[in-house]
Amino acid sequence: MADTEYPQELLAVLVNQVNVGLAVVDLEFNVLLWNSFMESYSHKPADTVVGKQLFDLFPKLPQKWLQQKFKEIATIKNYIFTSWEQRPYLFEFPHNRPITGGGGHMRQNCTFVPIKNADGEVTKVCIIIYDVTDAYIYHTMLQDAMHTLKEVSVRDGLTEVFNRRYFEDELQKEFLRAVRYRSQLSLILIDLDHFKKINDGYGHLMGDQVLRSAAKRIGEGLRKPDILARYGGEEFAIILPKTDIQGALIVAERLRIKLADQPIEHESQTLNVTASIGVCEYNIEMKKYETLLLNADMALYASKDHGRNRTTTFHSDLISIYQDMQRKDRG
Ligand code: GH3
Ligand code: MG
Ligand code: MG
Repeated sequence: MADTEYPQELLAVLVNQVNVGLAVVDLEFNVLLWNSFMESYSHKPADTVVGKQLFDLFPKLPQKWLQQKFKEIATIKNYIFTSWEQRPYLFEFPHNRPITGGGGHMRQNCTFVPIKNADGEVTKVCIIIYDVTDAYIYHTMLQDAMHTLKEVSVRDGLTEVFNRRYFEDELQKEFLRAVRYRSQLSLILIDLDHFKKINDGYGHLMGDQVLRSAAKRIGEGLRKPDILARYGGEEFAIILPKTDIQGALIVAERLRIKLADQPIEHESQTLNVTASIGVCEYNIEMKKYETLLLNADMALYASKDHGRNRTTTFHSDLISIYQDMQRKDRG
């Protein structure tokens, strides 16, 4: 730093005009200087602070942390910088922004500047407090926006359960996990019965409402690790990690009954909705996750074929039935 001697009045003006907090303390934390910034945010005038011990004045200060910082400064005899990301603030000051995120306290970066005597020993420390609340607010807004964006990209807009893309990514991951750890894994496919009739008879808006209600009802019947997605128009799929076929069948039947037993109500109309369900599980012969989808689909088709509102577990006999059906479909 330059050795230029500045006039005392000039320094006093600068100390009080700068838009940062300045507090000079000795190594016992007695306050020697307290600028206007510190006065106005702490509501403590300099003449009530200077000469007093900092921790008596501000009992909420992190005493151990500050003592440690001062020890470091006395040893390294150089600046130390701390960021709001490590410690949101040193002094609990309010901030004057309209947004009151994070408890409404001013976020602070701090610089600790050693002040040395003629022998080069650190005898005092100047604590500089920067108000970085704006940076904090923008950072938080950005994080919130990123979180929302991520949520939107994996959710189905109508029902708010996961979308098909996310579902297939997760199924692939769970499949690889099952292969690697030889763990159990089951899949449930649900297709609402005669959904066209609902749309035709009550209109698309009612159809949409039924989809929302059905998704909600299904979601409420699941455990946390289960992944529910809208697989198609009126089709839902559920990944059941660490679950064998018996467990999956119990879940599927519970969901089927949950849907069929209680009519869906919307704007004074009540509608009975049923679903056909296909269930299958991973086995070590499977080479790709798509096989799970195919097997669950065959089981679902069998449920439709046998009169709907029922659950079918995949078994290998279904393969030939399904192939016959596809041949017939092709004409
Ligand atoms: P099935 O018992 O054989 O499953 O009969 P279904 O009428 O449910 O079968 P299908 O798959 O032929 O018809 C599904 C209908 O779902 C057709 C489509 O118009 C409707 N659908 C798909 N997506 C939506 C949606 O987002 N909203 C509404 N309201 N209807 C939808
Ligand atoms: Mg369908
Ligand atoms: Mg259907």
